[in-house]
Amino acid sequence: MTVPESPTAGAVITVTDLQKTYGETTAVDGVSFEVREEEIFALVGPNGAGKTTTVEMLECLRTPSGGSATVLGNDVGTAGRAIKAEIGVVPQSFHTFERLTVRENVALIAQLYTDSLAVETVLSELDLAEWADRRFEALSGGLQRRTGIAMALVGDPSVLFLDEPTTGLDPDARRQTWDRIEALADRGTTVVLTTHYMEEVEQLADRAALLLEGTIEAVDTVPHLIERYGGAIKVVVRADSRRDEPTDDDTIEEILAADATDTYRTDEGDVVGLFEDRERAQETFSRLHREGDDRAIDLVSAGMEDVFLRLAGSTPEPGGELS
Ligand code: ADP
Repeated sequence: MTVPESPTAGAVITVTDLQKTYGETTAVDGVSFEVREEEIFALVGPNGAGKTTTVEMLECLRTPSGGSATVLGNDVGTAGRAIKAEIGVVPQSFHTFERLTVRENVALIAQLYTDSLAVETVLSELDLAEWADRRFEALSGGLQRRTGIAMALVGDPSVLFLDEPTTGLDPDARRQTWDRIEALADRGTTVVLTTHYMEEVEQLADRAALLLEGTIEAVDTVPHLIERYGGAIKVVVRADSRRDEPTDDDTIEEILAADATDTYRTDEGDVVGLFEDRERAQETFSRLHREGDDRAIDLVSAGMEDVFLRLAGSTPEPGGELS
């Protein structure tokens, strides 16, 4: 494990060898990372990896068992009050006053702060003006989530924590929530989010930390993670259910392995080769076309799914469990 010697200028959160144990369970096993000003930082990992425990220690909701962390220069162990005044938090299972309207819920929180933002401004920033007079209980899941973000935002926090912000949302609502989160970062809010969706990381995050069993496997910018662990480009030989005797996967893997940095098989039965070099990938692609017995073959740019697969051996399913 590498512990940063001194925090980078512009770091709003520094985490050093942070640990949390519950009895026999080690939920967070010595993680170190930092979050920089105005970035969107993602803690990525399957269910049970320790994401929520990590962010809840930063939100001063849980006490670390070891190590240290600062948020905006304040120590989580001793300056919880100062931290709580400066951050916004949207928990995974967000609930509020069901029978109050969106506007009333946001206004209620605004009253707690001396320097809150104008309620109407926040509602329009989150694209909620249209629903401002609707009761919370009558909203869709996506609008409820956005109301939660509005309530966290009205206190004008410097750092906003979002725990699994789009879990359970349909693709449209997810996309709209992403747009809103991006807009927050553009206006200068630092965003820390947890997620098990690799697409969410690619869409939103500037940098990401991959958490597995309480340990950080890698932390970097998303393009660097993809370049380093995903390979520059993939050759994907699709599973073939049409043929009685499709080309043997071993033969295909052998051809791929000649020039690929890594090969693997997906749960769907595709055989995949990761390449650093586009030219080599293209040569292999042509060779497979000649010898691959007309199975569908694609050249695909690598992404966070590949990074995760490489580091964790499999990717989280929609519910967040490792397949
Ligand atoms: P994630 O957010 O990545 O799904 P969590 O931080 O919720 O992971 O959990 C990490 C591990 O700690 C899991 O094994 C979980 O069962 C355990 N854990 C979390 N909270 C508690 C708790 N209050 N008591 C005991 N074990 C817990």
